Amino acid sequence: MTNKAYTAPKLPIMELVRELTIGQRATDNIEQLATFLHRTIFRKLRPFSTEIYFAGEENFELFQNPFSDESQNNLLGMPINHVVLDEISSSGSAVFYTKQNIPSFLSNSEIKTHLFVPIKDDADLIALLYLCSFDHFVFSENFLNSMETLAAVIGSRLKSMGSILQLTQSMRDLEYSEKLRTALYEISEQAQSTPDLGDLYEKIHKTINRLIHARNFYIALVDNRDDGCFIKFPYYIDHYDSHFQGMEIKLEEETSLTGYLAKHKEPLLLTPQNYTETCKTHNLKPIGKKPHSWLGAPFYFQNSCGAVVVQSYNRVIYSRKDKELIAYVARHVGNAINRQMAFDELRKAKERAEVAERNKSTFLANMSHEIRTPMNGILGLTNLVLQSDISVQHKTYLKMVHSSANRLLKLINDILDFSKIEAGKIELEIAPFNLRDTVADTLEILAIGAAQKNIELHFDIKNDVPRYLLGDAGKVNQILMNLIGNGIKFTDTGSVTIKIYKHTPEINDANNPNIILAFEIQDTGIGIFEEKIGDVFKAFNQVGTTRDSNNSGTGLGLVIAKELIEKMGGEVTVDSTPGRGSTFYFTIEFPICSDKTGKSLTPSNHNERNKTTCTSLNVLLVEDELINKTLATIVLEREGWTVRVADDGIQALEILEQELFDLILMDIQMPKLNGYQTTAAIREREKLSGMTTPIIAMTAYAVKGDREKCLASGMDGYISKPIDTKKLCCEIQSVIRSIPTSDNSIDRCKN
Ligand code: ADP
Repeated sequence: MTNKAYTAPKLPIMELVRELTIGQRATDNIEQLATFLHRTIFRKLRPFSTEIYFAGEENFELFQNPFSDESQNNLLGMPINHVVLDEISSSGSAVFYTKQNIPSFLSNSEIKTHLFVPIKDDADLIALLYLCSFDHFVFSENFLNSMETLAAVIGSRLKSMGSILQLTQSMRDLEYSEKLRTALYEISEQAQSTPDLGDLYEKIHKTINRLIHARNFYIALVDNRDDGCFIKFPYYIDHYDSHFQGMEIKLEEETSLTGYLAKHKEPLLLTPQNYTETCKTHNLKPIGKKPHSWLGAPFYFQNSCGAVVVQSYNRVIYSRKDKELIAYVARHVGNAINRQMAFDELRKAKERAEVAERNKSTFLANMSHEIRTPMNGILGLTNLVLQSDISVQHKTYLKMVHSSANRLLKLINDILDFSKIEAGKIELEIAPFNLRDTVADTLEILAIGAAQKNIELHFDIKNDVPRYLLGDAGKVNQILMNLIGNGIKFTDTGSVTIKIYKHTPEINDANNPNIILAFEIQDTGIGIFEEKIGDVFKAFNQVGTTRDSNNSGTGLGLVIAKELIEKMGGEVTVDSTPGRGSTFYFTIEFPICSDKTGKSLTPSNHNERNKTTCTSLNVLLVEDELINKTLATIVLEREGWTVRVADDGIQALEILEQELFDLILMDIQMPKLNGYQTTAAIREREKLSGMTTPIIAMTAYAVKGDREKCLASGMDGYISKPIDTKKLCCEIQSVIRSIPTSDNSIDRCKN
């Protein structure tokens, strides 16, 4: 090292410019450019050591020669307000310092020559070439010009690189916003459609993991209770603190981050720059391992709140964009929790309602039993007395008792039917039946009432209506009873006409084996006002007619009829003119019964069936209730049968030890042994003896499933109380026929 001043050597400027122009085209960013310059261009500027600075937001960053580790100066970066930069900016050209004018910040090194060459974009300084040497150099005009030329070429690359970088950035932004849009949509979908919150947290976690560094993600919920405020972690996935999953910690509002979020009601972003200071300012003492960056956003549900949090333990630092994303996620989590809570409440209410509904059904079943039992007594006994030799006046009174009891029974049946409809428990019992007989049966009963009011009943069934159909004859009868009954009830003079014909809509095609029948029930009664007509099919609706106070009823008849009709694939409508009368139309779709199936119910068969008597049967009646016992005994004995009574199941078993019976009539609800238990015991014994006695249940339980229950418990038949001897006879007949008994009681049951 000498103090001699050298002249900077002449540069092969043309060659350098060519090489620079071609070589730098392959560089896409400033790192690549700096590397290229160091490797190819700067080494040709020897004896100088050359570095390049690029303008950053706050500093001019040095891109030191990656191929040499000799650090020639101590400068790592220059603040943008550095004196050198000021000087270069103002002179607009290269600046060099020698021994004489060296500024103090450079004077503490051994370097004797410093040359700064500006790289500009128009007037802006965008980079800086720095040449230095341990020797003392002077620069010719020519050398400086050559350096400025090189700087201009590098500048042009930087400029175009700037646009490329901008483009890349905006493409990245676009890509991100596209990804963000998809993710946000996904999150809102997930929040709406995932009923289980645990699943939702997991899904959301997966979704945001695609957008930001979310390896460590948790959801916190604040639970305000009497014993304090707690924070729960229903979801906690974390590299270091996964043990927080499912944990509950007492929340110190002042010191926890979640407490801070809840209080300030806004997201919080912690980075290495603000972590310590923020925690100190707000007296926060975060638990768990200290993250490099922490980002959380609060959400609110009902009267409480919670937080969605991501943490980074590596170099990732969350940005403002991430903060917006987490805030969005938090909002959706809050909404989902709100919805979930509302849903839970609804479910609980539904469960309560279902329990109430079950209680109601049980209550109805019990009531039905309790009411039918005395009704059985009243109806049966009045009937018996009516047939005995009593005075005309007594007969009149008794008939009134009988008709009142019947009305009461109808009412009970309506209420039961209605509650079955409400519970969706109406079921059809499909069997072959003769529609003409069913209608005749209905009219036979209603004719009495019509005759009393002097109303004519007309019945017209067209020939094209098949004789036999498959359907629920009982329900058809119930509908007709209701509609024709109403016709009679709401008519003072004139008639009620019933017409049945084949409905001919287009759907009666060859492929449809069903037939649709139309029914018309027309009366000449009081009619229904137009504004009320819409209400007649609504429950408990006795629409105001001119004199409805005279008419009994529950307002349920039409509701039940409508339900039954619809259940059978039909519909019902009404036309009415006040003062002139009403016509109710309805249709029902029936499968046509084949001849073969129909044969079992040929008219002659059917008529004879009603006349059937089963003579000299030996019957064991198992019944505890006095009135029922008396009534049943009288009814059965009147048929010419021998009746032995057992007061309960145990007595029945004792009697059966000694005596054989053709038939057992079994009450269900009895003390000690009930009907089911008694039947089970009888059937058990019969296994040893090899003989079977038919058992028919006789029960006031008239709710769905009773028949099935009786049959399942080993009985052969079922009749409901009040006992109808005709029905009982039919049941006995069919039971005795279907069971091969030890003796030939079949022979004794003559048709
Ligand atoms: P209710 O048991 O009261 O007869 P319904 O459901 O059978 O109940 O009938 C509801 C109401 O519709 C009746 O109270 C009556 O006002 C009206 N209504 C039904 N059928 C007729 C009819 N044929 N003529 C006039 N009004 C009728």
